[in-house]
Amino acid sequence: MNFTYQSFSNKIYFGEGQLKKINAIVKELGGSQLFVISTNRTKPIVDELVQSIGQKNVFHFSKVVQHVPKDLVQEALTLAKENRSNLIVAIGGGSAIGLAKGMALQNLLPILAVPTTYAGSEMTNMYGISSDGVKTVGRDNLVLPRSVIYDPSLTVGMPLSLAATSSMNAMAHLIEALYAHDSNPITYQMSLTGVRVLKEGMEQLISQKSLINQSGTVGNANTNLQFGSYLAGKALCEVSMSLHHKAAHVLGGSFEMEHGKIHTVLLPYVLDFQLSGLSNAIIGDLQMALNDQSPPNKLRNLAQQMGAAITLQGIGFQEKRMQEAAGIIASMKFPNPVGITEDSIETLLTMAYEGRLH
Ligand code: NAD
Repeated sequence: MNFTYQSFSNKIYFGEGQLKKINAIVKELGGSQLFVISTNRTKPIVDELVQSIGQKNVFHFSKVVQHVPKDLVQEALTLAKENRSNLIVAIGGGSAIGLAKGMALQNLLPILAVPTTYAGSEMTNMYGISSDGVKTVGRDNLVLPRSVIYDPSLTVGMPLSLAATSSMNAMAHLIEALYAHDSNPITYQMSLTGVRVLKEGMEQLISQKSLINQSGTVGNANTNLQFGSYLAGKALCEVSMSLHHKAAHVLGGSFEMEHGKIHTVLLPYVLDFQLSGLSNAIIGDLQMALNDQSPPNKLRNLAQQMGAAITLQGIGFQEKRMQEAAGIIASMKFPNPVGITEDSIETLLTMAYEGRLH
């Protein structure tokens, strides 16, 4: 063995009941004046913080907008300064955590992340801020949340449509981590475990049609999906993503496709496209983790059985913009298992539009 592995340090609290430790975690991070980002959906958590820490020590910011607009970051920064905030608590999906990251980049405050989707942003040092329709992305360890609370109670109430696309978003991180050019045995094994655990969670979700067990307790599905998404976020931070993420970024950013939906649709077709560049060992491991001879087909079936759209047509992508999208994706420079050309990307997008695998 001969490899390089870069890990990123933060502290994870995982499992049922961990949310109850939030006061102690806030204290451990030195938080005395909190800037809490949370929509009204998670206001009960904010209310509990107010009760235990005191109204004057908690500032609640409830405006969360997709793609982290620069003006929103500025507004939040001003309020955080006025309130002498010394800890950002971000409760929500990638958009809420993204706002916290946009702030931390400038005011250097630590972040406590409380993720309510499976997108994985809480585990990365990656940020994106948009201005005039352009999203600037980057990496900086300043934005890596110091601590993360994964409690299944946070995700158990999400609509099944969101659970489907958000868990597929996590699956995409894991699949691309397996064939990353800078993969190593640690991220590889972690990602394989993630694929297996997420697949189990998805199958449990499909069979019980709920994130809650029949007994009313937190379901295994939810715990598996949340654990898989943690591993996925970690992999996303530790190795480089390839064609799938570049294409999802282009179609999400410049073609207004919703983040989770575009990841869900693209993943089986991109994996199908990549297969010829993957070693037999990777393909074999993936077949075993997904318990299926055809990983692309299995992923598409899982998405469909969870009720998600599985074609670009199904999520409203305009066919006439195919060539334009292919041109942008093909013009990007990134390592990928298979060489790409504008024509090959256009063929890939056409197959994803029509729902065709090889
Ligand atoms: P999101 O945060 O925009 O949430 C989607 C919708 O679901 C919102 O309306 C939100 O209020 C709602 N929601 C969130 N949790 C819910 C729950 N438990 N129950 C019901 N509704 C819930 O979406 P996302 O998919 O979590 O994140 C997508 C954004 O995050 C994108 O902008 C993407 O670029 C970014 N992202 C960044 C990274 C990174 O490392 N920087 C990683 C992944 C995603």
